[in-house]
Amino acid sequence: TRILGIEGTAWAASAAVYDCATDDVVIESDAYEPESGGIHPREAAEHMHEAIPRVVETALEHARQTHDGPETEPPVDAVAFSQGPGLGPCLRIVGTAARALSQALEVPLVGVNHMVAHLEIGRHTADFDSPVCLNASGANAHLLAYRNGRYRVLGETMDTGVGNAIDKFTRHVGWSHPGGPKVEAAAKDGAYVDLPYVVKGMDFSFSGIMSAAKQAHDDGVPIEDICFSLQENIFGMLTEVAERALSLTGSDELVLGGGVGQNARLREMLETMCDQRGADFHAPEPRFLGDNAGMIAVLGAKMYDAGDTIALPESRVNPNYRPDQVAVTWRGESKR
Ligand code: ATP
Repeated sequence: TRILGIEGTAWAASAAVYDCATDDVVIESDAYEPESGGIHPREAAEHMHEAIPRVVETALEHARQTHDGPETEPPVDAVAFSQGPGLGPCLRIVGTAARALSQALEVPLVGVNHMVAHLEIGRHTADFDSPVCLNASGANAHLLAYRNGRYRVLGETMDTGVGNAIDKFTRHVGWSHPGGPKVEAAAKDGAYVDLPYVVKGMDFSFSGIMSAAKQAHDDGVPIEDICFSLQENIFGMLTEVAERALSLTGSDELVLGGGVGQNARLREMLETMCDQRGADFHAPEPRFLGDNAGMIAVLGAKMYDAGDTIALPESRVNPNYRPDQVAVTWRGESKR
């Protein structure tokens, strides 16, 4: 089976081809980089409109060149696309492209939940059976675990997404988007200053710490110290809830997903926590962490194999598509 995946929930216009036989994933991405400020939905959609045809054509060209079957056969068996959650104007462009391609190539369409894809790429690359997943991305932050046919949201942000909180702070201090890598670099020279730490039950909140960090900067606290403390507290909150999720489910596997998962300090904290509990920790390679079509193609292939394809009328995009709305069809007989 070979699947074309298309991703376009926010900043990454991306297309990929996943070959199940070889487990190869070829990804072609084109990132939107705001000239100033954060992600502007209209500009992001304009970028999507311009870049999606190009990345899809490059991925399809690769699929055609590596296809052994007769030329009359389509180069891929299905088209999978990010159906949500994400920015509506971006999702609509990707949805339109996916529908058009599925009709032109005469192959089925697979609608993929972007957050479940962030999770499944970790489970796939680790070859874990039933892990807890920490999705730490720009617009979201979730602890997820599978139970009775669905990924349940065990914990989540009560306000802003984790990456967005960091990016809002860096925008305030005049650093260009995305802020995460810049905070990580500056934090290396920092010392701890007191900032809010908010975990309520299994949920966490980032808006208070983001405002306090902005205020600390305005008050003249050294920026390295704020960056260091932001990382310690935000990642400490995520690690605390991840540990509680492992304890609650009895799972001894943790996978990390999402763009913030590229942060070495977050990985170190999670790794230490897992080591102390005797759990296995896995973070996928960086190309699978930030938004990318590889994860859409890989989950798309699992869904396609399970017969989980959609007809055109069901292919509407959903900007608020939650991971627990997805009926999991592709896991077969999992342990839990
Ligand atoms: P979502 O996946 O929730 O729709 P998104 O598309 O914005 O959101 P991703 O591509 O998964 O998210 O991640 C982008 C975020 O990752 C940005 O907020 C960026 O600042 C953050 N990020 C990238 N690298 C790092 C890093 N090294 N440390 C911390 N954060 C990082």
